Amino acid sequence: MTGKMDCLECKKNIIPYLNYELDDEELNEFLHHIESCESCREDLEVYYLVTEGVGILDNKGGDYNLSLAFTDRLSGTEKYLRRLSLRRILSYSADTLSFWALFVMTIMCLRMLIL
Ligand SMILES: [Zn+2]
Repeated sequence: MTGKMDCLECKKNIIPYLNYELDDEELNEFLHHIESCESCREDLEVYYLVTEGVGILDNKGGDYNLSLAFTDRLSGTEKYLRRLSLRRILSYSADTLSFWALFVMTIMCLRMLIL
């Protein structure tokens, strides 16, 4: 069942998103919702800052810009989804192309049989 993700579902997907556990479809709906819903976006940012913040304290330290990292993470997801849909379009075109190639070849064979 695909459709618009509501806030409840979106909030449930925040942790899986941060853990890279969403599939492409879920990722797409999640990002759509995040882009249009201020409340969920803020929640996501808080989760991100908390989870990443803890990781950075453990590993790196220093003056790491978390807010910037969060924006990067979101735009990384956007880029991933754009590449994904481009790949789909390209593979669709390839399918269509091979269909027409086959079609033309069949017509040509038929013509050779007839003539
Ligand atoms: Zn929401």
